Amino acid sequence: MDENTGLITSKLMENSKKYFIETYGCEMNKSDSVDIALSFEEQGYKRASGGDDADIVILNTCAVRKNAEERIFGRLGYYRSLRKTSEKNTVIVVAGCMAQEKGTEITRLFPEIGVVTGTYHCLDIPQCVEKYEKKGKSLIAVDRKDYTFSSYKGERAEGYKAWVSIIKGCSNYCSYCIVPYLRGPEASKKSDDILQEVKDLVSNGVVEVNLLGQNVNAYGKDNDEISFIRLLEKINGIEGLKWIRFLTSHPKDFNEEMIKRISDLPKVCKHFHLPVQSGSDRILSLMNRKYTIRHYRTLIEAIRKYIPCASITTDIIAGFPTESDGDFEKTLNIVRSFQYDDAFTYRYSERPFTKAADIREKVHPDTSKKRLEELIALQRNISYEKNRKAIGTRKKVLVERKSKKDTSEFLCKTETNKMVVVKTEAPIGGFIDVVINDISGNTLRGIEAQ
Ligand code: SF4
Repeated sequence: MDENTGLITSKLMENSKKYFIETYGCEMNKSDSVDIALSFEEQGYKRASGGDDADIVILNTCAVRKNAEERIFGRLGYYRSLRKTSEKNTVIVVAGCMAQEKGTEITRLFPEIGVVTGTYHCLDIPQCVEKYEKKGKSLIAVDRKDYTFSSYKGERAEGYKAWVSIIKGCSNYCSYCIVPYLRGPEASKKSDDILQEVKDLVSNGVVEVNLLGQNVNAYGKDNDEISFIRLLEKINGIEGLKWIRFLTSHPKDFNEEMIKRISDLPKVCKHFHLPVQSGSDRILSLMNRKYTIRHYRTLIEAIRKYIPCASITTDIIAGFPTESDGDFEKTLNIVRSFQYDDAFTYRYSERPFTKAADIREKVHPDTSKKRLEELIALQRNISYEKNRKAIGTRKKVLVERKSKKDTSEFLCKTETNKMVVVKTEAPIGGFIDVVINDISGNTLRGIEAQ
């Protein structure tokens, strides 16, 4: 869960009511929460310091894994009792993927919910709340329509950085994933709008943009726009912008030529997140990932060849249906071979609507738990060794925020997406050079270079 989204905004109308957003799940949801916040501020609502202080609480939900849903149900239980015990008649809004998935089912379980808005309606929430308050009857908006990208552009700046959604939805139908059913097919934003948005953000003080999509490499394929790499080249040319990140890349839509062209773009950060999901071609085929380990290996080799200093991270699922010991051994082998900087590892989680849910031969939960632990331990050692080798090296970092543990320290990020803790006088959003002198857990520690 993220803290309530904080925004630079010059808006607008007077309204004494306060909103609070809890965000679950992926970066796309975090970006949607920025739009939701702006849509409330446009109507004059103020940001509350927490859910207990808010007139309207929005849970921007995730449905990718079952445990995310369970956490959200826990929070709904909390807000239900808050409504009973406090004088405030807090309006509870459930938005995002779980809202799209469950629709009326959530209001049956929690009749206290005022508004349910699915993935196509994140910009309509203030209007839905207004209607609900007038009628006093739960309002459910989960119908599908054409995606509207927010018009807030420069106002989406969150200090020195901003998310920029370039493509919404997903047309890949990986067999374990519910996202295409909830967010619909890929829909790319117009490149002129993206470029204008980035220029506006830069004039609002943004130095780093993070281009977002479920599959950024598919950008432009649905509407004959320029390609993703051409878009990167154009954004790289925007004056005043320092760093560009992007998330997530699908290996099937990536190739050596694209990596070579990225290596010529100095503003594109040297970090690739390339979800591999499994080391077994048989499992990849069952997952409907549409690439083989041979193809994936060519991408890793191209990154190492053209951008040797780049970091590479991945996602891996342990215990996909029918995964044998041999399949899992192949996953361990590619982790050893590719030497990822980090990996986000999960146990397979069965989701409704998906093809994998119909595969009868499931992996026993004890086995998938054991495999996940083995994977985590292996990756932890690799990450530790990589971090240890970074000691003594000099890095340019962006100062991101004050440390909560020690307010004289700041959390800074390298181009390769590694966190470095540094004592510095530099302002948040500024760049400094540091020398790495220690590691703690997965975090590097450094001192400012002279
Ligand atoms: S690429 Fe696959 S895993 Fe990613 S959102 Fe699309 S269907 Fe889900």
